Amino acid sequence: MDDRDADHDPADAWPLPPVWMWGCEKCIELYKGMKHACEVTNAAREEYGPAFDCDPFDTVLTSQIRLAEHLVTQHADDIPAEDPACGKCTSPEMLHLPRRFVLEHRARHLFAPPSIVDLL
Ligand SMILES: [Zn+2]
Ligand SMILES: [Zn+2]
Repeated sequence: MDDRDADHDPADAWPLPPVWMWGCEKCIELYKGMKHACEVTNAAREEYGPAFDCDPFDTVLTSQIRLAEHLVTQHADDIPAEDPACGKCTSPEMLHLPRRFVLEHRARHLFAPPSIVDLL
C-alpha cells in the first residue's frame, strides 16, 4: 500500500523522514519498529473496524516516544523549529513546558503525520 495516494488526507500522510535519519542505525531501527507497530494496528483495524482498540496502538505511541527521545538526545541540532501550522507548537502552553518535552513534540513532526503529532 502506498501512503501517497492522491485521495489520502494530507493530515494522515506519513512524512518521509529526513536523509540524516537514514544515516543513523538507531533512527532506522526505531523508525522501522514504529512503522511495523502501525501496520499491525492498521491491519487489526481493517479486520475489526475503526473502533477497535488494542495494545498495538499503545505500541505505536510508545515506539514514537522512543524515537522522539532518541532524536532529542542524539540529534538535538536537527530538531526543527516550531511548525506555524501546528496548533500544539504555537500553543502558549508550550512556553511553560520543559524544553525537553517541547523538543520531543517537534521531533515527532519529522516522522509522524500531523494528525498524530497534534495528539501528543
Ligand atoms: Zn539517530
Ligand atoms: Zn507541533
